[in-house]
Amino acid sequence: MSPTLVQGAYIVAGLLFILALAGLSRHETARRGNRFGIAGMAVALVFTVLAAVAGRNGSGGLGIALIVVAMGIGAAIGLDRARKVEMTGMPELIAMLHSFVGLAAVLVGWNSSYEETAYPKIHDVEVFVGVFIGAVTFTGSIVAFLKLSARIPSKPLMLPFRNWLNVGALGLFVVLTVVYVLVPDTAVFGRHLLLGLVTLLALALGWHLVASIGGGDMPVVVSMLNSYSGWAAAAAGFLLNNDLLIITGALVGSSGAYLSYIMCQAMNRSFISVIAGGFGVEAGTAAVGDVDYGEHREVTAEGAAALLSNASSVVITPGYGMAVAQAQYPVASLTKALRDKGVDVRFGIHPVAGRLPGHMNVLLAEAKVPYDIVLEMDEINDDLSQTDVVLVIGANDTVNPAAAEDPSSPIAGMPVLTVWEAKDVVVFKRSMATGYAGVQNPLFFRENTQMLFGDAKDRVEDILKAL
Ligand code: NDP
Repeated sequence: MSPTLVQGAYIVAGLLFILALAGLSRHETARRGNRFGIAGMAVALVFTVLAAVAGRNGSGGLGIALIVVAMGIGAAIGLDRARKVEMTGMPELIAMLHSFVGLAAVLVGWNSSYEETAYPKIHDVEVFVGVFIGAVTFTGSIVAFLKLSARIPSKPLMLPFRNWLNVGALGLFVVLTVVYVLVPDTAVFGRHLLLGLVTLLALALGWHLVASIGGGDMPVVVSMLNSYSGWAAAAAGFLLNNDLLIITGALVGSSGAYLSYIMCQAMNRSFISVIAGGFGVEAGTAAVGDVDYGEHREVTAEGAAALLSNASSVVITPGYGMAVAQAQYPVASLTKALRDKGVDVRFGIHPVAGRLPGHMNVLLAEAKVPYDIVLEMDEINDDLSQTDVVLVIGANDTVNPAAAEDPSSPIAGMPVLTVWEAKDVVVFKRSMATGYAGVQNPLFFRENTQMLFGDAKDRVEDILKAL
C-alpha cells in the first residue's frame, strides 16, 4: 500500500472528524455529525489496518487474521455494552472508555521505549509524556467511574497539602524525564526503573486529581478527562508515527478542553482550579444538613392537574430524576396536551442537569419534544417571574436557591434556574433526599412550592389522566 494513499485517506478521515464535531454542536445536525464520525472512523480503521499489514513483509495474512480477531472481540463487547446501557449509565460508561484510552497510551509508551529511532532523545521525551498523560487519564477516569456510579462517595478527598502534592508530582515528572533523557541506552535496568517510577507517579496523581474534586464539579471533570484522553491519544500518535492519531487526539483534546471551559463558566467555577484538582477550593464548605427550613407542602396529581388547567404559561425544568424514571415520553405527551389547550409550555435546561453535558436535550429529542420550546437556562431565567407554574421534574441541585443566596453552601455561586420566582412550583421526586451534590434544597420549603412524591413517570402519567 502506497504511503501517499494512506496519508490521503488520513486527511479525508481527519476532515470527516472535523465535520462530525461541527455537526454535533447543534441538535438539528447531530445525527448527520454522528454519521460523518462513523464514516471517518471506518476510513481510518481500514487504511490503518491495510498500512500495518503491508508493512509486515510476508506475514501479512497472519497480521490481518490477528487484527480481525482482536477487532471482532472488541466490537462484540462494545455492541453488547452500547445496546444494554441505560441513558443514566452513560456517564460512567464514558468515564470507563476514557480509562481505556489512557491505558492504551501507557502500553504504547512502554512498548515504544524498546524501539530504536533516529532521534532517541526526542523519542525518550515522547515516551515519558505519553506514559504520564495516559496513566493520569487511566486512574482519573477510574475514580470518575466509581464516583459517577456511586460506588465511592462523591465528596472531595481533602488530603493535607493536597495542592503541593499535585505541584510536587508535576515537578518530579519533569526531573524524572530529564534524568531518563540523560541516562545512556545501555543502562537498561535504570531506564526501566525510571519509566516504572513515572508510571506509578502518574497513576497516583490521576487518582488524587479526580478524588479531590467535589460532587458539584464532576461535570467539568468528565469533560476534562475527555480532553486528557484526547491528549493521551495524540501522544500515542507521536510514538506510533501515526498522523491521524495525532490529529484525532488533538481534536478530542482541544474540544474537550473547550467544553470544560464552557461548563466552568456555566457553573461559575475557575477553570484552572478545577483542572488542577480543586486547587484553591477551601476545606470546610461541608453539606448543610442540619438547617431547619420548616415544613413542606404536598400536592396530589389531581391537584397539580388543576393548577396546570388554570395556567396560561408553564415551564418544565427537568433533571437527573427524569432520566432515572424515563419520564421524557409522558412529559412529551403532557407538553402536547397542554399546548393543544393553548397553554404556553417551554423547557428550561440547566447546563449541568442530569449526569452528562446535553443529557436533558438528548432525552427530550428522543421523545420528540420540539426543539424551539427547549431553552437554555440563560434564555428562560428572566421569564420565570412571569410564569404561572414551573414543573421541576427530577431536578434538585440545578434549582437550588441556596446556590444564589447562601454563600456558605458548597454549591454557592453556581448559577441556577430561578424557578422559585414563578407563581407556583411543583417538584416531582420520590422523597426529601438531596441531589448529587448532597446539599439540602430550601426550594422544597418555600410557600409557593408543593411536592409531588413518587416516580416521575408514574406521576406525570397520573396528571395526564386527570387532565
Ligand atoms: P440532582 O442529581 O441534583 O437531583 C436529581 C433528583 O431526582 C434527586 O433529588 C432525586 O430525588 C430525584 N429522582 C431520582 N429518581 C427519580 C425518579 N425515578 N422519579 C422522580 N424523581 C427522581 O439532579 P440535577 O439534574 O438537578 O443536577 C445534576 C447534578 O449532577 C448537579 O449537581 C451536577 O453538578 C451533577 N453532575 C452533572 C453532570 C453533567 O455533566 N450534567 C456530570 C456529573 C455530575 P429522590 O431520590 O427523592 O427521588
